[in-house]
Amino acid sequence: AVRPPATLVVRNVTMKFGGLTALSDVNMSVPSRSIVGLIGPNGAGKSTLFNVLTQVLKASGGEVSLNGQALPKHFPDVVRKGISRTFQHVQLVQDMDVLQNVMIGGYINGRSGLFSSALGLDKSEEAQLAKEAKLALARVGLLDVAGKKVSELPLGSQRLVEVARALMARPSMLLLDEPAAGLRVAEKERLSNLLKSLRDEDGMTVLIVEHDMELVMGCADHLFVLNFGNLLAQGTPVEVQKNPDVINAYLGS
Ligand code: ADP
Ligand code: MG
Repeated sequence: AVRPPATLVVRNVTMKFGGLTALSDVNMSVPSRSIVGLIGPNGAGKSTLFNVLTQVLKASGGEVSLNGQALPKHFPDVVRKGISRTFQHVQLVQDMDVLQNVMIGGYINGRSGLFSSALGLDKSEEAQLAKEAKLALARVGLLDVAGKKVSELPLGSQRLVEVARALMARPSMLLLDEPAAGLRVAEKERLSNLLKSLRDEDGMTVLIVEHDMELVMGCADHLFVLNFGNLLAQGTPVEVQKNPDVINAYLGS
């Protein structure tokens, strides 16, 4: 079951942590079936925005809507609505094997029914989940390590396992927080191809936070640049790369 394409609109979103304003009146419109990059220096508010977009954190102000509807109030419901994500700091069960970690995405990531039976999946459900998890692992190029413990994998591969787990929710929108950190060149190329295939074949919208400019510029249709919690610029990769404000704040360094 492929979900209809997702459009995300962010209006005047502000996030304050005590005296610190991590996001200040951010406005964004993320078109469906696109790869959208979110870039900017460390501390700019990129991960905070992902947390607000998935209700991991409650915004101090503003609104987020998905396909014209307000975002559900709680993270699991957001995932059920079709927004799935990875975290900058990998959140996998280190001493379980890779396949089991990916299978968790099938119920943790909001497929109702399975969620309620998480403690006791029947055999056919489990087989179905395992089959799907293997397909997801194949897409990120890690089917051959399905039986290994997560802790045996390098951090870069663990990030890709998280991508596979996020795919188990069958999302219409995928949020990836620095997925290429720690990847080798060939793995980055594979990731880039995967993102394009999620957009082109699955009709997915991919929002990606990434410092690897070669990767971002090579696959994003549109970029948003955050700096100190403010939206500094947006546009195509070509437009953003020649924007003097962006060069000063981020790209020039
Ligand atoms: P980025 O992902 O762009 O590097 P973050 O969104 O992680 O930036 O952080 C933006 C700012 O908000 C930073 O100054 C960070 O220290 C602060 N911040 C992020 N999360 C929290 C939190 N849970 N509590 C307090 N401050 C936070
Ligand atoms: Mg971050």
